[in-house]
Amino acid sequence: MLIYCDFEPEGLYDGLHELIRTAYPGAEIRREGPCAESEMTIRIKLLQNGKKISLYGEVSSGMGKMSDEKEFGLAGDVAEEHNEARKLARVFTYGLLSKQLGRDISSYGILTGVRPVKLVHRFLDRGYDTGAVLQILQKEYLLEESKARLLLEVALNDRPYLLNKDEAEKLISVYIGIPYCPSRCYYCSFPGAVLKDYESEIAPLMKAMAKEINAMGEYIKENGISVQSIYIGGGTPTVLSEADLTRLFSLLYDKYVSEATAEITVEAGRPDTLSLSKLRTLKMLGVDRVCINPQTMNDSTLKLIGRNHDEKGVVQSVEWARQAGIKKINMDLIVGLPGEDIQENTYTAKKILKLKADNLTVHTLALKRGSLMAELEGKSRIEERLREVQKGVELFSNLFREQGYIPYYMYRQKYMKANMENIAFAMQGSFCLYNIQMIEERQTIIGMGGGAASKFVQTGDWSLSSVHNPKNPKTYCESVEKLIKRKFDKLQALN
Ligand code: SF4
Repeated sequence: MLIYCDFEPEGLYDGLHELIRTAYPGAEIRREGPCAESEMTIRIKLLQNGKKISLYGEVSSGMGKMSDEKEFGLAGDVAEEHNEARKLARVFTYGLLSKQLGRDISSYGILTGVRPVKLVHRFLDRGYDTGAVLQILQKEYLLEESKARLLLEVALNDRPYLLNKDEAEKLISVYIGIPYCPSRCYYCSFPGAVLKDYESEIAPLMKAMAKEINAMGEYIKENGISVQSIYIGGGTPTVLSEADLTRLFSLLYDKYVSEATAEITVEAGRPDTLSLSKLRTLKMLGVDRVCINPQTMNDSTLKLIGRNHDEKGVVQSVEWARQAGIKKINMDLIVGLPGEDIQENTYTAKKILKLKADNLTVHTLALKRGSLMAELEGKSRIEERLREVQKGVELFSNLFREQGYIPYYMYRQKYMKANMENIAFAMQGSFCLYNIQMIEERQTIIGMGGGAASKFVQTGDWSLSSVHNPKNPKTYCESVEKLIKRKFDKLQALN
């Protein structure tokens, strides 16, 4: 379906288009037009007069036309008025579209952002009690009670790990991105590279990373900044040979690892890149957490989604990690994979629980543009299995909770099936520090290597600016000097 949007002021589009996409999944949303092919037109107009705003909305399609109008009073101070007016426009539009569809649009109400728990932390910072937070989420943001309770639960679980302003000025985390994978999984939109020729491709990457790691390391050392956690991700960092992993860690030990470093994680996501010897090397290098990601334990699905491993490979990798003495293991799962429903999810959950990993992360398949699977599935299938996906997430969640796992961080994505969430469970005391800091955005994270994102957090108001390293290894290697300079500038601007 093609939907034409006419908003006044035009700036409303930023806050509303995601809500419209959620209401009509799979639809194409345009601002230019109207044109003959548009099957629906949505008009929203906002007028502000002092402390009063008037909203008019109209939805017209082949089924007819419906409209609504409302007036609201603005309660906040002048600085808050803009945000408040936009929030009311979202509430109004949510009501209009729900009426047109004859159902609620989303269990998350008007919250369409990636990090909904941050909102809860803001209310808790202001001293609101848990009852008040639940009420605000349901009444003002229109969340279903179960989602409001989930957000609050996650916030209360991860809150003890958030830094205060003084700590956040001197304690950062570090991310290293290795932008290569042994093959491409069909659902992945990560446009990094499939490793074809180790020698010719890894050598320049290691050289560029050494430059970046050394330069940034000098800066943080000179400025008395310590590193709380290090996360080596990708891609698939375990495509690196043991010799290259050892070289990489010697750079990190030189300038980043100190007594303040509480956690070192390596994404050992693909069992087809692991061996007992490699995991022993990681342990020797000080790695205390690895992610071994099955996604599913059904061999036929693994084959379909282009993973070069099977269930046995996953079990073997977990055994090797334990033999190597690595303390914590995370396992990622995906709900909504093709051909999978409750039966396959139940099989995966049972097999995974037997492995007794410390962390279990449940992802809801996000069919991003650019993934091979999005191309294969086509738009017509995106809406089809929403109910199954929802049931799958609930199944994993219930089974994990029964075994003592608790949710401790979560985030949402665009293009996510069933408008659900990615949610991490862990045994109490086994939380991943890096993931908490990265999701809640209360700590500066310096990302280095291909595809690495850096986040620079201003502790005054917890505002954020980012630098993204190119995912393409060649482009990354060519731009490393510029990237170092941009990160120096960002770090200097924090002081
Ligand atoms: S291993 Fe991860 S990053 Fe690599 S292609 Fe598969 S999903 Fe994408």
